[in-house]
Amino acid sequence: MRTTWTWEEDLLSDVFAALCLTDILRQCTNEGYFQQTLSSSILRRDPYEVEFIQSVQEVLHSLEPVLAKVPQYVHVLERLVEPERVVIFKVPWVDDKGEAHVNRGFRVQFNQALGPYKGGLRFHPTVNLSVVKFLAFEQTLKNSLSSLSLGGGKGGSDFNPKGKSENEIMRFCYSFMDELYRHIGPNQVPIFDTPSGDIGVGPREIGYLFGQYRRLTSQYEGMLGPKGIQWGLSNLHPEATGYGVVYFAKEVLANLEKDLKDLRCVVSGAGKVALYAVEKLIAFGAVPITISDTRGYLLDEDGFDRTKLGLIREIKAHNNSLGEYTKLYPRAKYFDDMKPWTVKCDIAFPCATQNELNHADAMSLINLGCQVIIEGANMPCTAEAIDVFRKSKVWFGPGKAANAGGVTIQGLEMAQNTSYVQWTAEEVDMRLQEVMRDIHQKIIKAAQDYGIGNPEALLHGANIASFLRVAQAMLEQGCV
Ligand code: NAP
Repeated sequence: MRTTWTWEEDLLSDVFAALCLTDILRQCTNEGYFQQTLSSSILRRDPYEVEFIQSVQEVLHSLEPVLAKVPQYVHVLERLVEPERVVIFKVPWVDDKGEAHVNRGFRVQFNQALGPYKGGLRFHPTVNLSVVKFLAFEQTLKNSLSSLSLGGGKGGSDFNPKGKSENEIMRFCYSFMDELYRHIGPNQVPIFDTPSGDIGVGPREIGYLFGQYRRLTSQYEGMLGPKGIQWGLSNLHPEATGYGVVYFAKEVLANLEKDLKDLRCVVSGAGKVALYAVEKLIAFGAVPITISDTRGYLLDEDGFDRTKLGLIREIKAHNNSLGEYTKLYPRAKYFDDMKPWTVKCDIAFPCATQNELNHADAMSLINLGCQVIIEGANMPCTAEAIDVFRKSKVWFGPGKAANAGGVTIQGLEMAQNTSYVQWTAEEVDMRLQEVMRDIHQKIIKAAQDYGIGNPEALLHGANIASFLRVAQAMLEQGCV
């Protein structure tokens, strides 16, 4: 008999237990049969894809009232959770010492019912098929919410850009593109994703990838994401996702007849999304007091301002510890190897990575009086954490809605590219605000249509509104 379990087995058994329970519950309803089949078929096909199963489960839960009302959507959902195409490839590259390495590359083309596949590339050691599938599934629903005519995809590699030289990163990007270019292009798949890529992929990587794509294909206009300012990039490229997260929070608060001014905000992450969110929070008079990274978190009870944010950017650019900040601002505190969820706040913005906020973290936030949680990252809250928020009746804005600003700007860029014009930063920013407002209204309406009130309106409304648009397109296209 087995007496020891690996963490993967533990996690898997939790997922199995959750699914079995869901299945049992669903057997009690007439509509439940198909959902049971669906859960089982995902588990049978992809039992180790923990993140992917988690993201599908969250959506399934929200869709119960929809499937009860329109049972034919069950079959659509069954087809929706299967990606249209998955490409996995080898990425060999040589380091500066002449030693050869090999990484694994992925591109998941999840669903094209609404338009060409679109979604980011992530370079991080934790990237595997489950992570890329969950990101691509989320992206499909996010793109649907944005009202743009875009399908969903995602890609990346288990390559770690940290500690690599410029030349090593360039060689890796070239090798990655040597294979990827066969599967993407203007008439098939717009290649890149949200404006600034994703974890580990920023303007530098995008530039190298674009350079190689252009050399391999002699095509320019097919590339939708990577262009630097001087070669056609929108004026509000890197800021869009982080700014959009804050615009979304503003809408949520306006609905509660509140605003961001003077609210204490706990932010996790110190990357593209987190730091632009902090920048916009400062602009709105909110008081962002934390940021974090893989090494620990920084707390400044006085709140960050533009000057302090400049220092943080400098620290991160040199890959130094956030603890450096306390040398200039001794009232601030740095906590090694800890997460910021034990800090008292009004709003929390998890903006680092998936499953960074668990049940205990959620309990801590609630006990300290946190009223609103807005996800900047993709799926940063575990299912158990979301359950805590739901039961505590706090407002929870899911990432697929709150961080849709980046892809929206990409869509706007596409329109801009075809008309050979460049909007000003103010024009793009105005459109970004409109889109985030529109997403929020759409979500609230979908929740109302299905009789869902607080505190679950944002979560379920986002899943329902995004699903209905993709599902309708799929139904109209037949058995796709
Ligand atoms: P990024 O620039 O690479 O920043 C990620 C930040 O999170 C870094 O500060 C990193 O720490 C920290 N981090 C990563 N893994 C962590 C972990 N396990 N524990 C603690 N901290 C961790 O990435 P990003 O573009 O901001 O993306 C962040 C999230 O937003 C991701 O979930 C991404 O999918 C989502 N998102 C991004 C965009 C976009 O346009 N970029 C759009 C939509 C959604 P280090 O600095 O130490 O590495």
